[in-house]
Amino acid sequence: MASVFDYRRRPTLTVHVGELTIGSDSPVRIQSMTNTDTNDVERSAEQCLQLAQAGAELVRLTAQGVREAESMGMLRNSLRKQGCEVPLVADIHFNPRAAFAAAALVEKVRINPGNFVDPARTFRDLHYSDEEYRAELGKIAATLKPFIALCREHGTAVRLGVNHGSLSDRIMSRYGNTPQGMVESVMEFLRVFVAEDFHDVVISMKASNVVVMVEAVRRLVVAMDAEQMHFPLHLGVTEAGFGEDGRVKSAVGIGTLMNEGLGDTIRVSLSEDPVAEIPVARKLVDYITSREGHEPIVGDYCPGYNAVTPPRRAARQLMGCRSPWVISSAMPEEITDALKPDFYGEQLPDLADAGLLIITPDNDNIPGSLLQQLHELAANGSAQPVVARVHYDDADPEWLQVKAASDLGTVMMSGLCDGIWIDAPFADPNEVVRLSFGILQACRQRMSKTEFISCPSCGRTMFDLQTTVRKVQQATAHLTHLKIGVMGCVVNGHGEMADADYGYVGAARGRISLYKGKQCVEKNIPEDEAISHLVALIKSQGDWADP
Ligand code: SF4
Repeated sequence: MASVFDYRRRPTLTVHVGELTIGSDSPVRIQSMTNTDTNDVERSAEQCLQLAQAGAELVRLTAQGVREAESMGMLRNSLRKQGCEVPLVADIHFNPRAAFAAAALVEKVRINPGNFVDPARTFRDLHYSDEEYRAELGKIAATLKPFIALCREHGTAVRLGVNHGSLSDRIMSRYGNTPQGMVESVMEFLRVFVAEDFHDVVISMKASNVVVMVEAVRRLVVAMDAEQMHFPLHLGVTEAGFGEDGRVKSAVGIGTLMNEGLGDTIRVSLSEDPVAEIPVARKLVDYITSREGHEPIVGDYCPGYNAVTPPRRAARQLMGCRSPWVISSAMPEEITDALKPDFYGEQLPDLADAGLLIITPDNDNIPGSLLQQLHELAANGSAQPVVARVHYDDADPEWLQVKAASDLGTVMMSGLCDGIWIDAPFADPNEVVRLSFGILQACRQRMSKTEFISCPSCGRTMFDLQTTVRKVQQATAHLTHLKIGVMGCVVNGHGEMADADYGYVGAARGRISLYKGKQCVEKNIPEDEAISHLVALIKSQGDWADP
């Protein structure tokens, strides 16, 4: 496993995507996806240009069918005529014919092992005998081989993109909707690519739950290493949302893995104009990769993750607090009960008396330095609660979000730390406190507000996603401990909102379906009535509280 203590990229194969290379010694590539109708060639080409000008090194477009794949061919020609060489990636679900069409027309094709060969999920509890299971694997190889041959012929790269929540019934029957299920799903495909001696393959393992996404990627690396596979990784948190939440979730998930040397291309998925994704991704890559060649971190530490989690939780419990603490240097003004720091203002000088140990980084590799200290404390048997304090000079909210969420998210994801203290004297204290709670929520360690799981939108989206997410948020943001999915389409949406408590999903143009967990409870509601139906649904389940 790559290590957070010595920032170095995991060595990989070099994958060729047109003239662009991914993996190995290539820089970490930044990419995004259009949210236009792919068949609207003019608008889609315009958005590709905007993304390329903003710094996207690859642009993905949705290709629901052969027609969209062919439109991508046309818009690729249009881009090349305009002097734009950005490689295009066709995003395929459920439709191998579209993948075959795209493989001859664009530089890269993304297929989803959860639905490329296996039929659409039924969410039924199916059982496969070993023989039936083997027969299904045979079908995968039979479908993939001609696709691989076509990609080889045209020099087209492939992304195997697994999403938590869109695993096939077959994988679910053996492994459940788990990180291990995600790994098995992709490994079955990878073995066919390796057997066919085709290596221009990039892998992604995405989830809206950051903890699941991080675990899935770590497990994948272990599984690939065991079979001497060295494919590059595409990192991203799906349905991360928008604004600060979207940036924080992405920075915690992508940042934790990048800090371990993983990741060769990234996409920050935001429910915003896709152009807004690029500067966030740029900051994340620049911030983390700037650590390359840092001074060695010295000291004893116990490698491995979560090995000593229980004593830390026990330490907090001894002090009457089960959740990790939030500490704030400056006194925030707009404090609600849910977002009230545990220690701030005049309490700060007494933290040591309260029994807390404050650690600070002493190396440019901030998470590496903090984790080394935490491991050392754990190895020495210390049960004293520990808070990680990091100083940032940034006043710019986006820079602070990226830096603090990737550093402290990495530390909190280890399970070894009991609290965070973002010391940012030039930033707004209210924003700093909100950011601190956001980091703990992204790590699923302290839930302080409703979590919105919203897809980034694409050519399949059935409504104006940004406006709708804001409306849903306005109606429900005061609720705590709920997860609400707002998904643009029913094709992927209800599967990919994963563990959301409620779902608001585009069923058709102007029509919405509502979900309670995975169950569709109301279908095809007119869009202008859907929010009030959602509120009524939440009330009927006893999950509502008046603001
Ligand atoms: S949920 Fe549907 S609309 Fe949203 S990004 Fe995924 S495929 Fe596109």
